[in-house]
Amino acid sequence: MELIINNLSKTYANGVKALNNVSLTIPQGMFGLLGPNGAGKSSLMRTIATLQEPDSGSIHLGDIDVLRDQESLRKVLGYLPQEFGVYPRVSAAMMLDHIAQLKGLSNRNQRKETVEALLQKVNLWKERKRNLGSFSGGMKQRFGIAQALVGNPQLLIVDEPTAGLDPAERNRFYNLLSEIGESTIIILSTHIVEDVKTLCKQFAIICGGEVMAVSTPQEAVNWLSNKVWSKSIPKVEIEEYRNNYHVIATQLAEGRLFIRVIADSDPGNGFSPAAPTLEDVYFNAISTKMDLVTL
Ligand code: ADP
Repeated sequence: MELIINNLSKTYANGVKALNNVSLTIPQGMFGLLGPNGAGKSSLMRTIATLQEPDSGSIHLGDIDVLRDQESLRKVLGYLPQEFGVYPRVSAAMMLDHIAQLKGLSNRNQRKETVEALLQKVNLWKERKRNLGSFSGGMKQRFGIAQALVGNPQLLIVDEPTAGLDPAERNRFYNLLSEIGESTIIILSTHIVEDVKTLCKQFAIICGGEVMAVSTPQEAVNWLSNKVWSKSIPKVEIEEYRNNYHVIATQLAEGRLFIRVIADSDPGNGFSPAAPTLEDVYFNAISTKMDLVTL
């Protein structure tokens, strides 16, 4: 099964064009939607999740015409929104039981089994009686995945799930996501390149409401082989370099500025060849739409 998005566009009432002719074919497995804040990722995810309507375009999940048959889509959807609110005075087990009821699991014993299996899966079984308000950011996100997995969804959407997690929590979350079956379509939106590098078989770069590139992480890095050059320069010279080279990233270290530029051949002038990274691909793809990103 695939999720096929065709020519999706959306302009909000305030005139912001959040989606501009977005077309994507998303296979089973983990698919990354990588883009800076304001790129249109949440707008796209909310539209796929049937929470808002586009101005034009179509979405199909297998046989389901998502925009015409929202009910069918909702039955097979798991969604972890960016702002995932929890009732602070309710325990994890009670909340999950409640969500399972809302999702139609009416048999009590079956529900009990489901809740236990999910809490075990996200490693919160020991914490099941604790109130959600006392959970850390990482625990809340793991709980968010548990609620999204109720009913074995065929399509799982997770919107910026690692934002705000510390490195250890992020790692735990990566492990959890990577354990979810290959037979599920998982869309992970993020502005963190490492999320895509670690988890995703395929990804799209989205910026200004447009799809800038679709690839696998490895193939994307190959696009830039022999095209990335780096140099350390005095900070004051950055403007001159920006005017003369296609600078994709700058990084300050020990008072000097390390810059990375894209050029088809050796730019000379003290530049050294650099191994391309996924960050380079990302910054290069969005550089046409945004001002230079300073790392
Ligand atoms: P992302 O998830 O990549 O940060 P969003 O989809 O949230 O991007 O936003 C894309 C653009 O649409 C931004 O410029 C944002 O300010 C704007 N936007 C998002 N939601 C609304 C809304 N409900 N009304 C008006 N503008 C919106």
